[in-house]
Amino acid sequence: MSRKPNFAIDGPAGSGKSTVARELAGRLGLLYVDTGAMYRAVTYFALKTGIDPENEAELDALVKDIRFSLVIFSKNRTVNLWCNGEDVSPFLREKEVSCQVSKVAAAAPVRKHLAWYQRRFARAGGVVMEGRDIGTVVLPDAECKFFLTASLDVRLARREKELRAAGKSWTKKELCCELTYRDEMDRKREIGPLKKAPDAVVIDCTNLTVEQVIEKMLESYGGG
Ligand code: C5P
Repeated sequence: MSRKPNFAIDGPAGSGKSTVARELAGRLGLLYVDTGAMYRAVTYFALKTGIDPENEAELDALVKDIRFSLVIFSKNRTVNLWCNGEDVSPFLREKEVSCQVSKVAAAAPVRKHLAWYQRRFARAGGVVMEGRDIGTVVLPDAECKFFLTASLDVRLARREKELRAAGKSWTKKELCCELTYRDEMDRKREIGPLKKAPDAVVIDCTNLTVEQVIEKMLESYGGG
C-alpha cells in the first residue's frame, strides 16, 4: 500500500486552521492532529500543579511525565487529546490556559518533547497537522504545506464565535489582547517561531469560505 501524504498547516491564531484542517482530514481520510492542543495541555497541567509557566526546569520535568495519545471517535470524526489516560479536551480553552500558553510554548524542553510526539504521530504518513512550526520544524518533509493568514478583524470575529458557541464569555478587548499577545510571542520566540516555510503555499482566508480554502488546498495538492 502506498504511503499517504502528510499535510502541514501553519498560521496565526484564528486564521481558520483548525476548521479547515479537520475538514480536509475528514475528506481525505487522514488523521487530524491539533498541536496547539498539546501546548495547551502542558499549560493546563502547569497551572494545575502551580508551576510557573516561565520556569524551564520545572516545565521540563512536567512535560517528560505526560504521555500523549489521540483518541478517535469515528462516529462524529472527532479526535480528542488524552494525557496520561485522561481526556483533557474540556479544559484546553479556559481563559487562563489561553493567556499563558505562549509562555509555556517558548520553553525549549517543551518544544523538543512535543515535536518528538508530533513526528511519531506522523511517521507512517496520512496526517493533517496544524500549528505554528509544522512546515518549518516538525515535518519539514511534509508533502503539502500551507500557511493560512486572515485580517485581524476576521480572526477576532472567528474566535469570538467559537468561544460563544463553547459558552465562554470574553470581552472584545480581552480577546484582542490575548490574540495579538500570543501572535507576537509566537512570532518572536527563538525556537520554532510562527513562520511560513519557504515551500508553503500561502492562502489568505480573509474573504474565503471554508469550502473555498479546501478547494484551493486540493487544487494545490493535485497540481503539486
Ligand atoms: O492553535 P492554538 O491557537 O490552540 O495554539 C495555542 C498556542 O500553542 C499558540 O498560541 C502557540 O503559543 C502554541 N503552539 C506552538 N506551536 C504549535 C502549535 C501551538 O507554539 N505547533
